[in-house]
Amino acid sequence: MPFERPEIIRPPSEHASYYLPLTSGCSNNTCGFCAFSFTHLGIRDLEEVKQEIDAMSLYMNHRVGVNGQPDIVYLILRRWDGRKVFLQDGDALVYPYAKLVEALQYLNGKFPNLERIASYATPQDILRRTVDELRALKDLKLGILYMGVESGDDEVLARIKKGATHEEMVEAAHKVKEAGILLSVTVILGLGGVKDSKRHASECARILAEMDPDYAGALTLTLIPGTPLYQEWEKGEFELITPFDSLQELRYIVGNASFSNCFFSSMHASNYFAIRGTLPADKNKMLRQLDTILASKDPALLRPEFLRGL
Ligand code: SF4
Repeated sequence: MPFERPEIIRPPSEHASYYLPLTSGCSNNTCGFCAFSFTHLGIRDLEEVKQEIDAMSLYMNHRVGVNGQPDIVYLILRRWDGRKVFLQDGDALVYPYAKLVEALQYLNGKFPNLERIASYATPQDILRRTVDELRALKDLKLGILYMGVESGDDEVLARIKKGATHEEMVEAAHKVKEAGILLSVTVILGLGGVKDSKRHASECARILAEMDPDYAGALTLTLIPGTPLYQEWEKGEFELITPFDSLQELRYIVGNASFSNCFFSSMHASNYFAIRGTLPADKNKMLRQLDTILASKDPALLRPEFLRGL
């Protein structure tokens, strides 16, 4: 099957990156809330990846385009500053290791001044690699991995078919840190529904503390039509928490997850209220912001539904 270039879905902090597809879809395509569920994993041919890197180099050095490259390549290149590359797609770390090394070597060869390469990774992708293998990728400028944790609660993780347990995700996090790669993780407020809200929040706080990532973000569950979780909700088997209850979960996590030094934010467009800061330094300030809005119970202070994004 020919490789189909994926749409651009990337972490907010990769807004200035070049988006280089190595894969399409996600290898762990079972998560019940995710738009990637039931998509097929596509592995891009290494030669095709190298051709795109050649085209990037030609354009950046000589402003010359190459026939056969899609328009999107040049749309991205026109605003790219040559500093960062984000490897697409849902978990590009699944790309076969030897080929990944070769792709990164090739990229570094063409762009010796590149500052950082980034990728999404599932816990399974990370656990499949040794620390030395991860270190070798770090030496090739893989500087940050983004991992969706979603929940720290094993029951919730099993229900959404995350394919990894609390313990496995903590182990993956420690491997990434041991390799010297920055770790950015996300949890999803509301993923436990009404029934498991308290346990979901407390286990999210616990797993974040155990992982001690460099960056942590809270997203808020948005049901996507067609996904298994959406169907559960339609059948009344899953009950969404209220926007203010999502802020209660957020407050619990900020108040109880201990970090050595973590940039924590709920700036993602799915959230009803945005906070950001470094934990533990800004903990009291962030808790005060949340307490104020929770005490007000004023819906006008929340991001309206129509402005929420995935
Ligand atoms: S691992 Fe991430 S990208 Fe893949 S299906 Fe699960 S949530 Fe979606």
